[in-house]
Amino acid sequence: MHVQVGSSSLVIDTGPDFRQQMLREDVKRVDAVLFTHEHKDHTAGLDDIRPFNFYQQGDIPIFGRKAVLEQIQREYAYIFNDKKYPGVPQVTCVEIDGDPFHFQGIAIIPIPVLHYKLPVLGFRIGNFSYITDANLIPESSYALLEGTEVLVLNALQKEAHISHFTLEEAIAEAQKIGAKKTYFTHISHRLGEHHEVEKILPEGIHLAYDGLKLSL
Ligand SMILES: [Zn+2]
Ligand SMILES: [Zn+2]
Repeated sequence: MHVQVGSSSLVIDTGPDFRQQMLREDVKRVDAVLFTHEHKDHTAGLDDIRPFNFYQQGDIPIFGRKAVLEQIQREYAYIFNDKKYPGVPQVTCVEIDGDPFHFQGIAIIPIPVLHYKLPVLGFRIGNFSYITDANLIPESSYALLEGTEVLVLNALQKEAHISHFTLEEAIAEAQKIGAKKTYFTHISHRLGEHHEVEKILPEGIHLAYDGLKLSL
């Protein structure tokens, strides 16, 4: 997910398609990466921030919970070696917990959710909120989402899943949060075809898709 706020270019998670996504959307700059959690489908593209280091001539801060940063340090040990091979990604780890923080003057509010037993952070930036890989939103997190105008939320499939909202659960959560527009992401191929699913979604709720652009 790429979020442009003024001149700041933020990325939420670097999935395996990160490189292709950045090329497709012609993103020229990445000022920071916010990680929701440590699963590989959210971190696998990190190596491809190299060209941004090269063009920007500097480190890129990566924000995540302690366990997330530790796992990234294990999986990408070469990035964090004392003796670095020239050209490896250059990152600065910034540990976040659940507290709001600022980056380049932008207020970022982490939204704690649960992915079965794993704590995951959603992020709210202005009236945009992004939550993925959740199957439970704790009661205290709804207050943080109040006033959200555009929400991105995970909806995996119709069948029950141990760590992801089903379509039905995601619809109920979207209605509870009450954003003007909600877009479902982290969709499995088992959900069905885009145009068929769109037909059964309540007003104001849509399926996201590659290349979707939202502005507010
Ligand atoms: Zn996950
Ligand atoms: Zn995932």
